[in-house]
Amino acid sequence: IMADKIEYPANLDGMLKQEFSRLNGKNSSIYLDHTGSTLYAKSQIDAYTADLQSHLYGNPHSGNPSSEHMADIVRGTVLNHFNVTNDQYDCVFTSGATGALRVLAENFEWTKGKSKFVYLEDNHTSVVGIREPVETQNCEAWLKEQKLNSTENLSQKDKSKIYFRVGNIFAYPAQSNFSGTKYPLFWISEVKKGEAFNLSKLMFVYIYICLGIGNPNSCNWYVLLDAAAYVSCSKLDLTEHPADFVCISFYKMFGFPTGLGCLLVRKSAAEMLTNKRYFGGGSPAGYLANCDFFKPRTVLHSRLEDGTISFLDIMALKHGFNFLNQVDKSMVRIQDHTFSLAQRLYRAMNMLKHHNGAEVVKIYSHTDYTDSQTQGAIITFNVNRADGSCIGFNHVLQLAASKNIHLRSGCFCNVGACVSMLNLTPENMKTIFQSGHSCGDHIDIVDGKPVGAIRASLGYMSSTRDVDSLVQFIKESFLQENNLSAEVNDEVYYDARSSVSDSSKALTLEKIFLYPVKSCRAIEVKQWTLCETGLTHDRMWMIVNDYGVCLTQKRENLLALIQPSIDLEAGTLTLESESCGSVEVPLNADDRIDGSVDINVCESKVCGDRVSGYDCGEKVSKWLSEFLGYKCYLIRKNNETRFAKKRKEIENCSNQTLALTNGAQYLMLTSSSVKFLQEKINSQLSEDGSKLGFDEIVDRFRCNFLVSGCKAFEEESWSKIFIRNQANVVKFMCSGLSNRCSMICVDKTGQKGLEPLRTLGTL
Ligand SMILES: *Cc1c(COP(=O)(O)O)cnc(C)c1O
Repeated sequence: IMADKIEYPANLDGMLKQEFSRLNGKNSSIYLDHTGSTLYAKSQIDAYTADLQSHLYGNPHSGNPSSEHMADIVRGTVLNHFNVTNDQYDCVFTSGATGALRVLAENFEWTKGKSKFVYLEDNHTSVVGIREPVETQNCEAWLKEQKLNSTENLSQKDKSKIYFRVGNIFAYPAQSNFSGTKYPLFWISEVKKGEAFNLSKLMFVYIYICLGIGNPNSCNWYVLLDAAAYVSCSKLDLTEHPADFVCISFYKMFGFPTGLGCLLVRKSAAEMLTNKRYFGGGSPAGYLANCDFFKPRTVLHSRLEDGTISFLDIMALKHGFNFLNQVDKSMVRIQDHTFSLAQRLYRAMNMLKHHNGAEVVKIYSHTDYTDSQTQGAIITFNVNRADGSCIGFNHVLQLAASKNIHLRSGCFCNVGACVSMLNLTPENMKTIFQSGHSCGDHIDIVDGKPVGAIRASLGYMSSTRDVDSLVQFIKESFLQENNLSAEVNDEVYYDARSSVSDSSKALTLEKIFLYPVKSCRAIEVKQWTLCETGLTHDRMWMIVNDYGVCLTQKRENLLALIQPSIDLEAGTLTLESESCGSVEVPLNADDRIDGSVDINVCESKVCGDRVSGYDCGEKVSKWLSEFLGYKCYLIRKNNETRFAKKRKEIENCSNQTLALTNGAQYLMLTSSSVKFLQEKINSQLSEDGSKLGFDEIVDRFRCNFLVSGCKAFEEESWSKIFIRNQANVVKFMCSGLSNRCSMICVDKTGQKGLEPLRTLGTL
């Protein structure tokens, strides 16, 4: 039923393709951040530059004939778009929606101890910020009362207005910039009924009462509608829904100009904007420099617009509205089109399932995208792995960017919605902020939970191609089709780097090793599951000392004596040593909370990267401390994503995240190279020197895969390796040769010798 609504008529579709041809071509882009900023059309900019080239525009305050009335004409165009005239509303130009909110906050007549500012939790930062001036201005407003008292030029009527009228503001977004939820516009008239205003009718309400509780009966409610996100794809009719104050940013409607917005003020509410304090440029009707005399202008926009308005940008609005009207003056078709695309995206994302049935995409919304009256063209989500854990949104965003897909991530300046939609607690968030996290930084997962999300938002020129590309990208990059695994005796193929050598050749996977605890002994397995960071559970734990420094065999030879083992069924990791017996910890992050075990997030460095994890508890710490002779802890890496350093060089490789390994997810060794080295070492030994066995050398190099069937050192020229069994083929990209390090000289007893490093140096 919806499908026929998605596509615009052919002529409009063709026109938009030409106007936005910069999205196609060589660097074809999928732009899905229209709530961040939508795009401007080519002819819109052409018309604007032609306008600039053919007129002489000077400062409107100077009475320049071309500029003088232009701003007022454009005010009329803006009001007309929202179906009102300048008898009903005034249009005050501001630096943006935020600027509009600030003008309102600073000029509104707040009454000390009485005024209330009530807002939805799901509001933009710029709306929530109004609460701060409410508080501070209350004191100031009181001071001004005193001052006005002694001013002669106020009529009795004006005075009573200031003394006895208590103004209150209820603020909500016409559309949430987080989830795209459209809140009912009938709330405007509900709230304005004053006494009848029943808060319980409004869902998701967070009330902020400034400086004490006023008497509701003497209250006078004004509605602030944040329409910044709403108006880009929806019709706002202010005759039908007469909000008192409306804020807008124009770049969200037609992409250009930036830094210009407006505060639309209903004429009957203008009397509340009398708290003018700063004045500048053309805003005073009169003032004296050497004494405290200032008389503001009476026309609202003249009074509130300090300095010279952005008159060239204001002119650009004319061309923006012209173009938008050309696409769809009613905005109804745009709304249908963008909503249908959002619905298509919502449905396609919900269909994505991992091999075990787990959902790939978690969508945060109040609706199920069935009604364009309650849902706008925004989809906010996170991507999950098959095991249900969340993939960091920064990782998803970076990968998407590498495919030229533009999205936005974080909390989108709407912490209220973020906290409630992601089920975070305010205490939670406070701790996170206090520990150094700030809005917009790189931290995306804390204690396994996402602290933000990814937003895809659509604009009037978006197409099914944009939506389908995003779904395809998620499917290709994150959908786990089956449990990938490797098994001994699997076939191994490779692609050589140089095209001259013979192409792929079958080899055999001889052995698989994993090292759950960094620098401790290997576990040899016959078959093992692969995950995002390599072999499952490989290098997920590390031992750190009292200073949080990660221990390795380079520093602490005794680690070579600790034998880990894994029991998948019991879900345990066991550490064992001859002298101290064994100790167990839970294998999975979810099971870690064990009575009163503390979960200290700690930081350490691996290969120059800061990595964080959590303490696996006192019991294992005691065991390790006893074994090594000083205080140390077992730390499990948390789910925060860590990237391979060389990742820029490996093209077309979607997954380059690491556990606690130094440089890559897997380390491979060939038995022919090991044999070659072994012969070399042993041939150089003196009579009484002890020979190094094959297995001993393999063990020293700490590989994950031992492969046989090629010549010695042939692997240095490989660029890709494939491991194939009945179920699947897994492709690996070679990221480079592993660095030599002195750890290969430590034997199983913790003794350090010279080989095989010495012989390697002679090759
Ligand atoms: C974008 C936006 C704002 C802020 O707009 P600026 O142009 O950054 O001032 C406020 N509210 C909502 C709902 C928005 O989407």
